[in-house]
Amino acid sequence: MRKLQAKSALLPDGWARNVRIEIGADGRLASITPESPLEAAVETFETLLPAPSNLHSHAFQRALAGLTETRGPGDDDFWSWRERMYDFLPRLTPEDVEIIAAQLYAELAESGIAAVAEFHYLHHQADGTAYADIAEMAGRISAAAGQAGLGLTLLPVAYARSGFGGAPTHSGQIRFSNSAEDYLALWEASRACLHRADDQLGMAPHSLRAVTPEDLSTILAAGHDGPTHIHAAEQVREVEDCLAWSGQRPVEWLLEHCNINERWCLIHATQMTGTETAALAQTGAVAGLCPTTEADLGDGIFNGRQWHADGGKWGIGTDSHIGRDIAVELRQLEWSQRLLYKQRTVLADPMQSNGNAVYTGVLQGGAQALGRKSGKLEAGYWADMLAPDTEHPVLAGRSEDALLDSWIFTGSRDCISDVWSAGRHIVKDGQHIARAEIAGRYSAVMKRLLA
Ligand code: ZN
Repeated sequence: MRKLQAKSALLPDGWARNVRIEIGADGRLASITPESPLEAAVETFETLLPAPSNLHSHAFQRALAGLTETRGPGDDDFWSWRERMYDFLPRLTPEDVEIIAAQLYAELAESGIAAVAEFHYLHHQADGTAYADIAEMAGRISAAAGQAGLGLTLLPVAYARSGFGGAPTHSGQIRFSNSAEDYLALWEASRACLHRADDQLGMAPHSLRAVTPEDLSTILAAGHDGPTHIHAAEQVREVEDCLAWSGQRPVEWLLEHCNINERWCLIHATQMTGTETAALAQTGAVAGLCPTTEADLGDGIFNGRQWHADGGKWGIGTDSHIGRDIAVELRQLEWSQRLLYKQRTVLADPMQSNGNAVYTGVLQGGAQALGRKSGKLEAGYWADMLAPDTEHPVLAGRSEDALLDSWIFTGSRDCISDVWSAGRHIVKDGQHIARAEIAGRYSAVMKRLLA
């Protein structure tokens, strides 16, 4: 049993003082006791918070961040970015993917994130043939999470088509592509790649572009008790193509044809009508928002004000990893709403701190989307926690809600001192415990890939 003491901690009912936190050998919180006298030899922190989960990652795309900023011959958009991403894929070996993912996961941890949902679709060799072990790449993702100590919800992705109506996949997509039957074999094999008690397995039909209704029902009929994630309504053209194919918009189609419930997470959900927004919020599903990626790709702005008013749940993903900092993602989410509505503090309730509003939102939605018992400092939950660096100038003199507001709206990863994932103490004094070796391997891979 490890004991920590926080002068201030964010508990499910709000801020509490002099909180004793006991972490069991199993990585779960054993007890939380406010107003505890300070014992000698107990490690003490000014502030402890539950640490959030990142609900959407394509880890290999970390290597591409910053390499797609030169304009092409015409207008650049999501679709031209996607071609650049496809062009990069053939270079990546399983070893590369593991090293890139470990770098990413260490960076995410340093920003305060304790767990990640990996929307994992890079399955096959460069020529499209499966590896001898069909789950080779899934194993690499799991190994990377193990090296970084980050919690993992692995979401093997089903990808079988290149557009609505069942068009076959093209050359850029051969590393992703599986029949529904092969996907189910991959999905079963992926389970064996997970070794830690807090690891989770879910399912991810890529999008209505990439699976037919028949694929979708075959996959979902296999039955599983983890989360189900799907990309939906990120792009205007995607909505138009879906309308041309089915007469319905993607979210509308999903609401009518799938039993969307709190185990689902719809990634992006950027292009929703007011009716779709209200109906989706009612299901209890999580909207998986990826604010810096959506800004980077020119996707558009999520219907956040109505979603909040309708009681919708949401969480944050770093998706393409153009941003890898939870504070920056939360800020971009709120700032996009401010630009859209020409207002301030859009996602807060009256008299509520905006930092507290978005932080408690991301804790709840992220945990739900990962199927992870986390997001609360409460006995029985995984010890996913962070300690801000209260000596950092951004946080000087701040505590409680003012500390959250300052970190999220004017701070960054520099404001984080310590992070625990299921009790694993993976960030100490602002640095990931294996930062140097992970970054060294990553640097060597990038030099080779970009030579
Ligand atoms: Zn994505």
